[in-house]
Amino acid sequence: MGFKTDIEIAQECTMQPITEIAEKAGIDDKYLEQYGKYKAKIDYNLLKESDKENGKLILVTAINPTPAGEGKTTTTVGLADAMQKMGKSVMVALREPSLGPVFGVKGGAAGGGYAQVVPMEDINLHFTGDFHAIGAANNLLAAMIDNHIFQGNALNIDPRKITWRRCVDMNDRQLRNVIDGLGGRTNGMPREDGYDITVASEIMAVLCLASDIKDLKKRLSRIIIGYTYGKPSEQKPVTAGDLHAEGAMTALLKDALKPNLVQTLEHVPAIVHGGPFANIAHGCNSVTATKMALKLADYTITEAGFGADLGAEKFLDIKCRMAGLKPNAVVIVATVRALKYNGGVPKADLNNENLEALEKGLPNLLKHVSNIRNVYKLPCVVAINAFPTDTKAELDLVETKCKELGVNVALSEVWAKGGEGGLKLAEEVVRLCDEPNDFTYSYELEGSIEDKLNQIVQKIYGGKRVVLTANAQKQAKQLEALGFGNCPICVAKTQYSLTDDQTKLGAPTDFEVTVRNLKISAGAGFIVALTGEIMTMPGLPKVPAAEKIDVDETGKITGLF
Ligand code: ADP
Ligand code: MG
Repeated sequence: MGFKTDIEIAQECTMQPITEIAEKAGIDDKYLEQYGKYKAKIDYNLLKESDKENGKLILVTAINPTPAGEGKTTTTVGLADAMQKMGKSVMVALREPSLGPVFGVKGGAAGGGYAQVVPMEDINLHFTGDFHAIGAANNLLAAMIDNHIFQGNALNIDPRKITWRRCVDMNDRQLRNVIDGLGGRTNGMPREDGYDITVASEIMAVLCLASDIKDLKKRLSRIIIGYTYGKPSEQKPVTAGDLHAEGAMTALLKDALKPNLVQTLEHVPAIVHGGPFANIAHGCNSVTATKMALKLADYTITEAGFGADLGAEKFLDIKCRMAGLKPNAVVIVATVRALKYNGGVPKADLNNENLEALEKGLPNLLKHVSNIRNVYKLPCVVAINAFPTDTKAELDLVETKCKELGVNVALSEVWAKGGEGGLKLAEEVVRLCDEPNDFTYSYELEGSIEDKLNQIVQKIYGGKRVVLTANAQKQAKQLEALGFGNCPICVAKTQYSLTDDQTKLGAPTDFEVTVRNLKISAGAGFIVALTGEIMTMPGLPKVPAAEKIDVDETGKITGLF
């Protein structure tokens, strides 16, 4: 359609040296560790030594999406650019993209159109090496487990009950299930094993929730790697601390813990740091990144993965609770195509005008608005992320309907116009940040696991109740007996529906959510509740994006999108 691709737009940007961006953010030179001209790490001592008051925190989330993504990152970046245009001191805090999906279907994850963070090629590829460090720490622990067994297994680890998997930052389905340790007595102990993609490693979640090096080490040592031999009642969890692995793992991670500084296309300072999965983990950038941005700027805009039922819920109930953060406003991104999708239009027809389906999809948006306002008691605004395929009638209809229903709404055109296209949204967000709020979690930590799950299902998803399979009931008892009963819950379910069935669109009621598996991520400090099989190692599609990615003799990359 004659639009420039994301990478073309990004490469046309004349970036400012990262030293200038740091200066603009008020980062003293002594905290800045440069990684080339346009990237830097920020020393976490800045957090300890700064006596500046925290700025305001804004969360960007979305309605239940279509498989293509609805533009949360794009809106986050564009909103920051718009606030800068208003003369505000602002920063963004985002997740680091995973390398694997870049070569699959999804492409990059550094925003889109005229609302991106740069250098986008670096951010999408190796960046500052954080994910490599996380992979190394993950695999060091794996190596120490198998070596311990090989050397006599003093801890009595049952090789059939090892829950710790190896990892690599690539979409490689071939590695999902492997048998390793083959080749005879000197080559290890054969066992069934498997690989996850690095972002699914618990180390990623741990790094993102750790407040400093000491806390990081404590969390790493708590990680449960498997269980001992014996009847279920006799099995004891074995931790990374039992293997004395936490010191070396922390050493591998000491630089990865430092937030990365880059810039938006309009030179707003952006911290891009950490990127845990949004299903088996909590799906937002590191606590250190958010806290640092809050210290540096008057307004921090951040994003949480998937729709608001997963991303915002975990951001608010897990991350904010653990880190003591108190948000000031929430932006819910809605698109015409996601509303039509929720109104029953198949994926292939989403580009055709359909006012009827659009209206039919609105209850999904309204449910998320109501959750933010009435459950979490936070002010919110709907950002309509305008796509080139939207018709004026469609955009008008969403705006009118929202207004009729008393929902704050602003059209956002940041993808096409950059900060200029986000001024209306920015004005509304600034206004909301000045409103007092009574931020409340959707559940308290005290109470049984089932109890907490019921509150999430009833209040956030709009369902009747949770159903634990016999297996999950057994696991809940075990976890409570082990002392994990008061951990927050991290639900792993489909992002496409408020239910656990991705075909149930809109805002269903009267449904049950079935939890089949409960696992503890003791380092991260949450219980993962799995509603079905969750893929922790993606594969590549028939024609992977990798086939179109190339680089010329000057080092210029093409085909990344
Ligand atoms: P999310 O963070 O919700 O997953 P992204 O911001 O990463 O979504 O956007 C997903 C994809 O959609 C990106 O490729 C981006 O370029 C594209 N996109 C986002 N907003 C728009 C828009 N308004 N018009 C066209 N494409 C868009
Ligand atoms: Mg995103």
